[in-house]
Amino acid sequence: MKIKMHTQILIALAGGIALGRLFPQTAENLKFIGDLFIRLLKMIIIPLVMASMISGIVSIPDWGHLGRIGLRTFLYYLATTVMAILVGLLLVNLIRPGLHADLPRQEAFDAETHTPPTPAQIITDIVPDNIIAAMARLDVLPVIFFSLLFGIALSAVREKAAPVIEFFQALDIVMMKLTGWIMAVAPIGVFALIAHLVSQMGLRVLADLIQYILTVISGLLIHACVTLPLLLWVVAKIRPFRFFQAMCSALAAAFSTASSAATLPLSIELLREKVGVSKRITGFVMPLGATVNMDGTALYEAVAALFIAQAYGMELGLAQQMLIVITATLASIGAAAIPSAGLITMVIVLKAVNLPLEGIAMIWAVDRLLDMCRTAVNVWGDSCGAVLIARLDGETLASPDLLRA
Ligand code: ASP
Repeated sequence: MKIKMHTQILIALAGGIALGRLFPQTAENLKFIGDLFIRLLKMIIIPLVMASMISGIVSIPDWGHLGRIGLRTFLYYLATTVMAILVGLLLVNLIRPGLHADLPRQEAFDAETHTPPTPAQIITDIVPDNIIAAMARLDVLPVIFFSLLFGIALSAVREKAAPVIEFFQALDIVMMKLTGWIMAVAPIGVFALIAHLVSQMGLRVLADLIQYILTVISGLLIHACVTLPLLLWVVAKIRPFRFFQAMCSALAAAFSTASSAATLPLSIELLREKVGVSKRITGFVMPLGATVNMDGTALYEAVAALFIAQAYGMELGLAQQMLIVITATLASIGAAAIPSAGLITMVIVLKAVNLPLEGIAMIWAVDRLLDMCRTAVNVWGDSCGAVLIARLDGETLASPDLLRA
């Protein structure tokens, strides 16, 4: 009997947790398997992003269409990020986890060595001065910028560059095949990663900050299980749970790797093969979303900033909380799609409302767990965006089962 992919992934998650708790040494020895899985994913990111974006853009029939998809994508990113932040702010104001926080300061956070980029620098860094160097550094955003321009230029010359178009279309097919193979071993990779993470996690630190952790997780759950599914149901006319099942493996990979970029190959493959979203939408929405649309990170930054304020006994009024909405949006856009990136860009939020940067030291110890959760929500947000924009574009998807009556 063939076990379904999402069941395999759930078994891998549960098995990883059990192994990590019961046999931490074995889990430690299996670390290299998790590392191998992450390396496989990273290995294909750059060729996959280039092939899927370029072949996606050339398949968009006209400029008007490209503009429409672009505008909808931008509006979706902005609206869902702000909704996520508002949910986070509401919860942190209601629960007030910082008031009685028992502050662990085990690991000193040196804010000086973690200076986040300024907004001007974030924008400058999008344009690569050397595309090969950006590719070698696995710097996804400059590669996306280049691919976007390259795809548009190819569309402008069309027939004159037919072999180049065919090359990228063929490369895209090969990369999808490769991704499919990596997907097949995803449960093993997820199992090893989770087992190792659980074996490393100190329960004592988790207990110290339990109210804070629960506030962030509740916010993420509301966004992932209420806000986004409502959008899917109402706007896209899709059954959210069916869609969740189809995307389960990518979400588990996001959770275990804590990197939206590493998860990108899997989410693109599932959206195309299982859900049936066209490559022009996935090629455009997913790479861009993985790097700039981070609902989970934005929510987390807002909760963490208010938590720190509460713990230091500082009241933030409405105007300052609005400033948090703006800066948390920017900080989530600026965060790279790699582990812990959100913790670093939080400096932007804290500085804007004059909170002590050392506050980050308080939440440092539990960041990994929250990073895993927010990354899963980031990838879920991108995936919901892709399918929603596909539906608005009139796409019918792979199976009628995904659509609601
Ligand atoms: N790890 C997150 C991601 O890759 C970014 C963050 O640290 O919040 O989406």
